[in-house]
Amino acid sequence: MDSSFSSSLAATNATTTNTTSSPPTSSTFSPPSSLLIIGSGVFGLGTAWALSRRPAFSNCSITVVDRSDPNTNVFPASDAASVDTSRIVRADYADPAYAALGAEAQVLWRQQTSPTDLGACGRYHESGLLLVADGVPPPPNTPPRPAIIDKTKLTGMDYARYSWANVLQLAAQNPALAGQVRETPDVAAIRAEARTGGGSSGAWGYINDGSGWADAGASMAWLYQQVKQTGRVTFVAGTVTSLEHKGSAVTGAKLSDGRVLSADLVMLAAGAWTASLLDISGQAVATGQVLGYLDITEAEQAQLSNMPTILNLSSGLFIIPPRNRVLKIARHAYGYLNPTVPQTEPLPQSPSAAATFKCDSQQSVSLPLTSASDPTLSIPAEGAEDLRAALREMVPLPALWDRPFTKTRLCWYSDTPTGDFVVDYHPQWQNLFVAFGDSGHAFKFMPVIGDKTADCIMKSCPPEFKGKWHWKPANSSTVVTEDGTRGGKPGLILAEALAQR
Ligand SMILES: Cc1cc2nc3c(=O)[nH]c(=O)nc-3n(C[C@H](O)[C@H](O)[C@H](O)COP(=O)(O)OP(=O)(O)OC[C@H]3O[C@@H](n4cnc5c(N)ncnc54)[C@H](O)[C@@H]3O)c2cc1C
Repeated sequence: MDSSFSSSLAATNATTTNTTSSPPTSSTFSPPSSLLIIGSGVFGLGTAWALSRRPAFSNCSITVVDRSDPNTNVFPASDAASVDTSRIVRADYADPAYAALGAEAQVLWRQQTSPTDLGACGRYHESGLLLVADGVPPPPNTPPRPAIIDKTKLTGMDYARYSWANVLQLAAQNPALAGQVRETPDVAAIRAEARTGGGSSGAWGYINDGSGWADAGASMAWLYQQVKQTGRVTFVAGTVTSLEHKGSAVTGAKLSDGRVLSADLVMLAAGAWTASLLDISGQAVATGQVLGYLDITEAEQAQLSNMPTILNLSSGLFIIPPRNRVLKIARHAYGYLNPTVPQTEPLPQSPSAAATFKCDSQQSVSLPLTSASDPTLSIPAEGAEDLRAALREMVPLPALWDRPFTKTRLCWYSDTPTGDFVVDYHPQWQNLFVAFGDSGHAFKFMPVIGDKTADCIMKSCPPEFKGKWHWKPANSSTVVTEDGTRGGKPGLILAEALAQR
């Protein structure tokens, strides 16, 4: 039972600024003289941005390393979860703490006055979100959200209902949002708000016209520029093969070309690749998610020009409004596991385990497989069929239903049991800070997650995330995310699913 789930939305609500000042810091924190960040996705790059502007870190040298192509020096690597044509930006969460954080981020996404503003130049589109679920709709006048919720027991319908309650509360506090959130109590109402001329999904839901989507690739390029402009961060293109340690203290990272990057503090923000460097059994697991992209005509795009993002929380299937004549369909699911023996033994859970390590004990963990390493990689037929089902249900253009995907992609989440991130100091290894467990929903927080992570580094975790973001005692080494948002089936193995093509 997640007792902190009842935390007040109002207390954490959008008093947002992109602050450069440091929060009150725990007296136990003293800044390191050097920091190495492994991974430049939203967590790594966002944190580099935040820390580079904090006075407490003015004497700290900050280095970011990523598996980026050394010839292009683009950060992050092209197959990072943070890079894609689009990511949903929403405050629509069943958990009020994330709803408030989403609202906080949206204040910054909406800035579009100058071309250098985050949301400008097509990086953010506020086209609405139609959030729906299958099953029995809630009876009228049901209390929208109980005070305390067990997040691991939510159905898609529960999630949609509690999310609705949270955004109504946000709208009540923000006159600009009033009227933007409307219940869609039945299929006819859902069809009307889908605004496609006939598409639908689910049995109940609501539309939030205050939600939108971001061009993730362009937004990461913007963030990279912001960080570069600080002149405070050194970027290294290279693949970390192991974490270096001396006794119980982590001292840096070794790269595949033999270079060693040393630092007083190492932050591991390697997303779904984290398990290749650190034993995170019981904390998070890498799961592959399917995406399909369809080329459409100008006329087809025009017909879909008013649609919101449609997300069905029971099936996990969603479609983002098309741009540049490309329509993206995806599934937010339990995903595929890809058991792999890491090339180098990951850092064990504790220094004492490191001391007793034997070479033959190497075990497989789920790790990403992407088209960067296997250009022939496609998505399993099982996933492709689900994407087709979404297309047929949500988009009333029969000409699209069987059109071959122009491109497909397997994109990787670092999934935790509750969908909460892990942003914390490692409980056993000194000088190691971790930020992983994005659970498929961290992108929207891009403008604010770095500052929140920086607060955690400075031992001042935001109160509403205390108990959610910490490294938790593991009950089991098997991780399945049961946060009420997942479609598909748990436990699918990628190689087996691909073999069923
Ligand atoms: C299909 C899909 C749809 C999504 N939709 C949404 C959405 O609609 N809204 C939303 O908010 N979120 C969404 N997300 C989630 C969001 O994209 C992620 O939560 C977020 O991007 C994770 O950021 P990250 O920094 O943890 O990981 P990443 O972006 O993956 O960054 C990790 C980085 O670490 C680097 N790295 C890994 N190992 C090493 C190593 N050994 N050496 C050097 N570098 C290394 C990688 O190259 C990578 O660049 C989606 C994700 C996927 C996959």
